[in-house]
Parts: sequence; C-alpha cells; structure tokens
Amino acid sequence: MIRFEPVIALAQIFITQQIASLFGATGTVILLKNIFNQGSQTLVNIIFAVVLTLGLFVTASVYLKGNNIAENTQHLATEYISTYKLLNELNNYLIEQERFLNATLTLENSRDEKVTNQAVFQKPNKVIDTLVINLGDNPSLKIVVNNLKELNRVNSQLLGYIEKKDANKQLTAEYLNTISKIRIATKQELQSLIDFVDLKVGNSKNEILTGVSNVKLFVLLYGIATFIISYVIVKAIAIFKANNVDTQRLSLFPSRNPNPVFSLDHQNNVTYANPACGLLLKRLSLPVGQTHLLVDNNIKFYQDEIMADVDTQSTSFEYQINQLFFQCNLYSLEDRKEWDIHLTDITARKAVEKELSYRASHDPETGLKNRYELEKTVADLCQSSQEFSFGLLEIRSFSQLLTGQGLTAASTVMNEVADVIREIICGFNVLECSVYHLGEKSFALISKQNANKGQIYSLVREIEEKVSNTSFYCHYEVRLDYGFSCFPAHGNDYSSLHKSALAALDKSASSEDKRHIVFNPELGERLRYQQQLIEDMRLAISNANFELYFQPQLDLRTGKVTGAEVLIRWQRNAEWMSPAEFIPLAEKAGLIDILGDWILHTSCQKARNLVDLGLEDLVIAVNISPLQFGRKDFLAKVQHVLEDTGLPSKNLELEITEGVIIYNEQETIATLESLKKLGVKLAIDDFGTGYSSLSYLKKFNIDKLKIDQSFVRNIQHENADQSIVRTIIELGRNLSLTLIAEGVEEQEQLNILKSMGCDEIQGYFFSRPLPEQEFIEFVQQQRGSY
Ligand code: C2E
Ligand code: CA
Ligand code: CA
Repeated sequence: MIRFEPVIALAQIFITQQIASLFGATGTVILLKNIFNQGSQTLVNIIFAVVLTLGLFVTASVYLKGNNIAENTQHLATEYISTYKLLNELNNYLIEQERFLNATLTLENSRDEKVTNQAVFQKPNKVIDTLVINLGDNPSLKIVVNNLKELNRVNSQLLGYIEKKDANKQLTAEYLNTISKIRIATKQELQSLIDFVDLKVGNSKNEILTGVSNVKLFVLLYGIATFIISYVIVKAIAIFKANNVDTQRLSLFPSRNPNPVFSLDHQNNVTYANPACGLLLKRLSLPVGQTHLLVDNNIKFYQDEIMADVDTQSTSFEYQINQLFFQCNLYSLEDRKEWDIHLTDITARKAVEKELSYRASHDPETGLKNRYELEKTVADLCQSSQEFSFGLLEIRSFSQLLTGQGLTAASTVMNEVADVIREIICGFNVLECSVYHLGEKSFALISKQNANKGQIYSLVREIEEKVSNTSFYCHYEVRLDYGFSCFPAHGNDYSSLHKSALAALDKSASSEDKRHIVFNPELGERLRYQQQLIEDMRLAISNANFELYFQPQLDLRTGKVTGAEVLIRWQRNAEWMSPAEFIPLAEKAGLIDILGDWILHTSCQKARNLVDLGLEDLVIAVNISPLQFGRKDFLAKVQHVLEDTGLPSKNLELEITEGVIIYNEQETIATLESLKKLGVKLAIDDFGTGYSSLSYLKKFNIDKLKIDQSFVRNIQHENADQSIVRTIIELGRNLSLTLIAEGVEEQEQLNILKSMGCDEIQGYFFSRPLPEQEFIEFVQQQRGSY
C-alpha cells in the first residue's frame, strides 16, 4: 500500500519553498514555519493542487503541440509534396502532349513516330487517382479530369483525322484550336490546384513553425521551473533537516530541564514527569515517583480560571512545599484536557525578598522598625483620627562620639542605647509604646493613646535611670534628649508632629530642663520665631546688614595687643542678636556659606586697613563654621580673598573647632597643611570641650589653642578647672603652641592664667568686642600708653 503522508509532507515543503523563492530567504523560513505552525493544511493543499494542475497543463500542452507538429509535418511530407509533384506531372503531361501534337503536324511523313508516341495521349489514370485521394472532392480537379478526358478524345479524333488523306488544313486547325483551348483551361485549373496546394503547404509550414516555437517556449519555461523547483527543494530539505534537529532538541528539552516539568491529564493524574521531578521529591524527602505530591492543593482554582477565559492558556502562581517555595507555570494544552506544569525553585529569591522587605522596614543594626515604618504608622493613626503620642529621643553629642572614638564605638553605643530603650519600653506598664530607630542618634516612640505628661515623665525617668546604671562602651557617658508631641493637639501629620517634638527636644536640650520635654504652644511660638529669624537673616545677608566687631587679644608677657577676634553683630529690629543664636540657625537654614564668605572677605578687608594704618603686626582671627571649612573649595576661597584684599597671610588667623579637625581626618590634614603653606595661622577654638583624648593634636599643624571660657569662668574657685587648664597649657607647651584663654573677666583669672604660663588672654577684663574704629583707637591708645 502506498503511504501518502511522506508524499504530502514533501509536497508541502516543495510548495512552501516555491512560494518562499518569491519572498526571499527570510520570508521563506517565516512563511514556511507560519504555514506549518498555523497548521493551515487547506492552504497548503490548495497551493499543491494549483502547482500540480500547472505541471499537468504544461506537460499536456507540450504533448499536444508535439502531436500537432508531427501531423502537420506528415501532411507536408506525404500529402502536399506528392500532390505538388503529381500536379507538376500533369502539367508536364500536357506540355508533352502539345509538343507531340506539334511534332506530328509538322513531320507529316514520319508516321512511325506518330504511332509510337500515341502513348502520350493515354490518360494518366494513376496520377489522377492519387490526386483524387489527396485532394478529395475538389472542383478544379474534377474539371482537370474532365478536360483530360476531353483532350484525349479530341486528340484521338485529330490523330485519326490526320491519318486520313483528305484532311484539310482548316479542319485540322479547328481541332488544334479546340485542343489548345481545353489545354489552356486545364492548365489554368492545374495552376489553381497548385496555388491551393501552395496555400496548404504555407499554412502547414506556419503551423509547424508556431508549434515549434511554442514547444521551445514551454521547454524553456519548464527548464526554468525545474531550476527553481530544484533550488526550492534543496532549501526545503535544509529547513526540514534544521526543523528536525529543533524538534529533536525540543523533545529532549523537558528531560534535560533542571527544573521539574510534569503533565496532568483532565483528572489531574500525572502522565509525564521529567527526571528533575524525582530529584525534587528526594530533596523534599517525599517518596520518589509520587510526582502528584508536587501538585499544589489549589490547582483546581487556577485551572478553572484558565478554562473560564478562552483567551488564556496559562497562568503563574507561587506556593510552598515543606521548606521550599516554588513558582508554578501552569499551561493548558490545546484541547484543554491536559496540563503542563513547570516548577521553578524560588526559595532563594523569597529569602532575599523577605530580607529586603525586612530591611525596608527595619534598621539593619538595631533591628528596630525604621523611619519608613514610623511615617506609615503615624499616617495610619492620623487617618483613623485616634489620639496618640509621638516621642523623639536623641543621643547627645553623638557626632563627637563618632568623630572622636570612631564608627565602631559609636555604633556599639548606639546599639546599647537601643537595647536600653527597648528593654524599658517592653517592661513599662504605664504606657504601651513601640520604638523606632530613625538613624544613628535618633529614636522615636509611638504610644497609641494620648499620654499625659505624668506618664511621659515616668517613662523618661525609667529610661534615664537605666541609662545612668548602664556601663556603655568605652565608659561613654550617654545623655539623652527627649521631645514629645501629641496628635491632634500638636500636629495633624508626621511632619508637624515631628517638628513639634523636635522643638520640645531642642528646648529641653538647651535648657537642661526635663519639664520642657512635651511640646507646648510657647514652643510653637519659638518655631515661628525661628522661621521669621531665618527670613530676616536672608534679607540682612542680601543687604549686607551685619557689622564686624573686634575683640582684642592681649599678650600676657608684653602686655601688648597681638590681634583681635572678629565677632559678627546683627541689629535686628533695633535689637542686637547674639551670634550664638543666629549662627547655628544660619547653618541649619543653609545660609552659612554665603554669610561665612561675607565675614571672611570683610574681615580681610578690614585687617588690610589695619595693616595700611601701620598695625602690620596685628593678627585678625576669623571664626570658621565647621560646614564652611568642610567645603571642597574652602582653601581656594581663602587664597582668593587674600589676593583680592591684598592682606598678607601672616595677618590672618582662622578659628576652627575640635570637631572640625577630627572629622574626615585625612582631608582636614591636607587642608590644614595647605593653609599653613599659604602662611595663614590656625587656632583651635573652645579647646577642651570636645574630646577627652588630646593626642590627636600632634597630627595637625596648628598654631594656637583657645582654652574654652567654661574652664576660665570658675578657675579662681574650681580646682578641677585649674588642673584641666594646667594640663592643656603643658600639652600646648610640649607641642610649641601658643595658648590663649578666652572669657577672662577678672584680674584673679588673669593672674592664675599668667602663673600657669598662658601666653595670651581675651575677655571683658581687657576689652569687650569693639567696632572697627573703636578697636583702632583702642590699639593706638594702648600702644601709645604702654
Ligand atoms: P566664640 O567663638 O567662642 O566667641 C567668643 C564669644 O565669647 C563671643 O560671643 C564673645 O562676645 C564672648 N566673650 C568674649 N569675652 C567674654 C567674656 O569675658 N565673658 C563672656 N561671658 N563672654 C565673652 P558672641 O560674640 O556672642 O559669639 C558667640 C559665638 O558665636 C562665638 O563663640 C562663635 O562661636 C559664634 N560667632 C560669633 N561671630 C562669629 C563669626 O563671625 N563667624 C562664625 N562662624 N561664628 C561666629
Ligand atoms: Ca571664636
Ligand atoms: Ca570660643
């Protein structure tokens, strides 16, 4: 029995390739694949039928044309050529007859010849018969035949008459005349017959030529078609082979797939499972071969979902088997009676997701919930209009701890503080609180009830007690600042509640008074006041509405003014503002850069004036804010200001605080070195307030230590202050630094400092900060009087 499938398959390839040759190579592959992929069998069959019909048509046409040519050639060769010959014979016959008759009439004596040649008058019956067969019922032929008969008869009569003795010339001439007429008529008919045959031959020739050129064309087309078809078949075989490899590879895909793949029938019985399923069962400590144990319990739900939607063939969902998580891709097979399931182990991804989500909501170091969670909780509580309390806790001087002791120490202390707060919150029965870590030094508390002051104070007391009883890392003395606000009294969203709590915290921190830890309307006033102050400061900066005062510094050995510290003064609404108040605010509001630039530039200008006045030994000290010093272009700025004002660098001193030089040590050392190279002097302000360790000083190339006023204030009464100041002075001596004590208000203080070997003093005792002119006069007077 013949198997048709391979034939049809090859025909499909053949046809698709024929079409493909029309669309080019890429088009070929796409079209071929599309046709087979879409399974449009009907289309393929139609194309197949058309091409087959065309093939048959070409073959039949060539065959028929061949036959036609053969027939025409046969006609030409056998019929027309012989007819032509026979007609010529007849013509010759007539000519011969005429010649003989003429000869007979002229050679009257040669009777023998006449008798022997009588044969020419016999009718050429054989020729006529053949012509009748060839030309059929032709009227001209009939006339010719009859004429020949008549000719023979008249010829015979003439010949008989000639032989008679009485034959006269007139009658003979009449006979000859008749014979001539008949012959001419016969010849004419013969000519028309020859013309007829000529026409036939011409037609036949034309038909043969047309037929031959048609056949040539068909053969040419057939040749081209064969070439195309061969090309197409070669291509088709190549694609077929490639497809075969693809199919083979695809068929191996599930078995080689490292992920579990299995199939279910319509009753969810497992019909196929790849080797990875066995490995997974083993990993899950499930019996090998029991692939149905890998099927999710909710599979029916997802199957129904797919079945309900005609446009959906697959879905994806996640589930857990024992300790592992999987992503399941469920595919419905075309008839929707079978299901393919592909499992991917997403346990690792899940773990990362869990970790990320934990990190998104928790502080990684303390494990406490973070600011994001706090903001969310506060927003939810505000939304529900439920009363609640919001608290802020901050480790005081944390940045100094960080810069002084390093990151490890700071982070250890921060964790210890977090533990203390957590422990107290957990055991605190008066209020139910949750604690959040907002980063480094800041923590927050939320109590989902509107706590009264008493409850808050007792909570703070417990924390304070625990803090004072805890020994922190490096024996660091932890001090916490607190600020509380309540919803809705002190704010109706996170931002306003945070601001209020922060205002309370700032106030309690600055006043050291724990009574201020809860926000009150006065603090709100303060917030508004600060806001206004910032606005006014902005305006004052743009109008250069500040003044610079000079506080003289006295050399204790010579009793001469060595220089002055420049202190900014701002008269706001006819009231002098303390720089201790507005400078930190300018730092907070981001105004310190522009204000600092103005101070530095104006100070140098004024210092240059002093030099011009002949006071070229005076050193003018300018306070530099830590933020200002930290800017990348600070060094360039100093350089530029000196060039711009023409102030010799030796006349400029910069006062920086300890925190500045400790923070970002490497960069600071480099900047200090460069400033030194410029010739600028460097002093450390408020010395002794920041760090217990003084060893760092050796690393920095500085000129002067300014002993903080807090040690000077009670030096005449406090032994402790005396010993601190003495130590600082000794240390300074060892490092060849100049020592200046600030805030000296009394003679006694001066005496003590002098006895300890302090080099210079600055303070109300000697002079208050003075306006420029007064300062000049002060110096000139002092110099003159000394
Ligand atoms: P500071 O640098 O420690 O300045 C010394 C402060 O002590 C000045 O306060 C000065 O007026 C005051 N003072 C001087 N002698 C005595 C005294 O004998 N007894 C007492 N009780 N105080 C004395 P002022 O001018 O109010 O400045 C306060 C702080 O403001 C300064 O402390 C400094 O940190 C900052 N500041 C002042 N002017 C500037 C400035 O131009 N730029 C920067 N960045 N900060 C400045
Ligand atoms: Ca200062
Ligand atoms: Ca100072």
